[in-house]
Amino acid sequence: MPDKIKKIKALEILDSRGEPTLQVEIELANGLIGQAAVPSGASTGIFEAHELRDNDPFRYGGKGVLKAVANVNDLIARELVGLRVTEQKKIDQLMIDLDGTKNKSKLGANAILGVSLALAQTAAKSTGQPLYRYLRSLYNPKLKNFLLPTPVVNVINGGKHASSNINLQEFWIVPHKAPEFKEKLQQASGIFHALGELLHSIGYDTDLGNEGGYAPNVKSHREVFDLLIQAIESAGYEPREDIVLGIDAGSSVFYDSQTSTYNLKLDQKVFSSRDFIDYYSDLVDDYPLEFLEDPLAEEDWENWQIFTKNPLVKQNNIKLIGDDLFVTNKERLQKGIAMKVANSILIKPNQIGTLSETLETISLAQKNNYQVIVSHRSGETTDTTIADLAVAVNAQFIKTGSTARGERIAKYNRLLSIEEDLK
Ligand code: PGA
Ligand code: ZN
Repeated sequence: MPDKIKKIKALEILDSRGEPTLQVEIELANGLIGQAAVPSGASTGIFEAHELRDNDPFRYGGKGVLKAVANVNDLIARELVGLRVTEQKKIDQLMIDLDGTKNKSKLGANAILGVSLALAQTAAKSTGQPLYRYLRSLYNPKLKNFLLPTPVVNVINGGKHASSNINLQEFWIVPHKAPEFKEKLQQASGIFHALGELLHSIGYDTDLGNEGGYAPNVKSHREVFDLLIQAIESAGYEPREDIVLGIDAGSSVFYDSQTSTYNLKLDQKVFSSRDFIDYYSDLVDDYPLEFLEDPLAEEDWENWQIFTKNPLVKQNNIKLIGDDLFVTNKERLQKGIAMKVANSILIKPNQIGTLSETLETISLAQKNNYQVIVSHRSGETTDTTIADLAVAVNAQFIKTGSTARGERIAKYNRLLSIEEDLK
């Protein structure tokens, strides 16, 4: 069999924050080589699969990944060499079994995911298909048509992604009206630049945060929404009609589970869950805000349920998105479905650790009419697998940062190529 795995080799490389991560290369008996790299989060959900780090204080402040690299090169490679690269599901299961823990803490979800994604990259080449078509064949070959996702573009970075005073983690502009991806991207870029000029003109910082959005110190969270509206208008677009807004509150970070309260330091306000839902309702009344990711904490199921039931969600077409809540985990999503919690899910392959499990979670979400947002992490590489993944599963949305910084742009550029390829 020419598509047999001949060699698997992991390497410690750096991500966009200058922290170590893994790159995995797979070589086949037929000489073809495929490669993938693994991203890393900062506001990591407590229920995510385990990211294995060395904890050696003398290398990269303990963040080295040489143990994970060794696990790929020794334990995993030993089992996989000789298998067919197209046996994605079987090999992912083999790695899950080899690890043997619930959260992939033995081999490391970063080690396992690196191999899992590199398998798909290599198999796509070996079968002579672009990656999005190969992933479609793994996901659901019966699905017709390929849809390009709408980008949710994070233009203001706060929370753990910047050192500004903004507590809400991400502010998005969403070009939901333009028919083509390339037009959506062009609109987002125009607004991003208009926002930069606006911030500069009022003496605010225009340096960029971890995901390429601006990271100024501001007077209040509401001021950010006002600035976004101004930037949309000055770029020549109509808020709501052309562009809607979204946030990733990243609320687990400022949730105090002892007192069950949410603390927005910037606004000097502490909210109960119910009050915080009212806070969001007011924002939805005042702004074209249609996306709320992790508005409540990963453990606050009961209030998530109350929020989802609120009529304003349907009335305003609100996407209530579970990120830290679901962590791309089928069991947690199943609980959400049973409890009627949220209506959308963020998909991050490294939260769960294999491509096959990622596809299973997406399938469960789509069967239950949850909208799908495929996502990067705040620590990224130039790997573009998530762009192909979004198209393969016809995800409605992709979240991959602002329209600046190479590791974010790599994904957008890949989507431009796919759009062209599909014509
Ligand atoms: P993270 O942020 O990659 O730091 O977790 C992204 C997100 O919360 O969606
Ligand atoms: Zn998030």
